[in-house]
Amino acid sequence: MAFVDSHCHLVFSGFEGFLKSRLTGNSPEYYSVDLLVNRASQAGVKHMLNIGTHLSDVEGYTAISEKFPNVFRSIGIHPEYAKEHYEKFSFSEMQEIFRKYCSLGKTIAIGEIGLDYYVSDAREEQKKIFSFQLELAEEFNLPVSIHTREAWQDTTEILEAHPNVTGVIHCFSGEKAFVERVLKTSYYFGIGGTLTFKKNIILQEAVRDFLPINRILLETDAPFLAPVPFRGRINEPAFVVHVASKISELKNISIDQVEKYTNENFFNLLKKARR
Ligand SMILES: [Zn+2]
Repeated sequence: MAFVDSHCHLVFSGFEGFLKSRLTGNSPEYYSVDLLVNRASQAGVKHMLNIGTHLSDVEGYTAISEKFPNVFRSIGIHPEYAKEHYEKFSFSEMQEIFRKYCSLGKTIAIGEIGLDYYVSDAREEQKKIFSFQLELAEEFNLPVSIHTREAWQDTTEILEAHPNVTGVIHCFSGEKAFVERVLKTSYYFGIGGTLTFKKNIILQEAVRDFLPINRILLETDAPFLAPVPFRGRINEPAFVVHVASKISELKNISIDQVEKYTNENFFNLLKKARR
């Protein structure tokens, strides 16, 4: 087995409180990057895309990608931090940082970027930072990882205004109207641990009935949203296998087929990634 975790966060700065509250008997060292990558390999997770959220994580993520041949990285400003970046940097300063890191071989995407009207009401700042990053994606010919929460109408409008950019809707939640609109574009659907939650009927039906297997990427969003049977615990790339097995059950196809398609999808979209 050789799965890909197309969306995880292996640097936990900023997540310390979350981690501390969920150690469930394990030491913090248990979640060191070395051990996370090691357990992923043992579980058959061959490649990982370590997703940036803040310009302060660029150095650390670059060091991880240099150390582990199978860990790629992205660079991006999460909507939660849009206002902070907007106030702290000029667009040309941000552009310079993106230019420096996007040119590195293992920076294979821009993300995660988008709109989140649940965590922040700085909507105008979010939209500006989002559009700015879509323009950079076009400039560098890199796919994007999209985060959208309670904002799909504005998100699709902004994406449709950048038709030359493609990517993945990360942690896709399954709303029918959104599925139809995204299917008209070339974007993929990132499916993670929430698929395994018992009451998540909307997403399970979407995966079963509407989402073609050739448009699905596997992800964990580690350390968040651990799949069943680890729900409530710290998530890690090794657990992506549980998402794959749920897709196989819902679509009534073998886990080998899920592996084959989701791998192909990943390497088709993330063109800079080398197997
Ligand atoms: Zn994420």
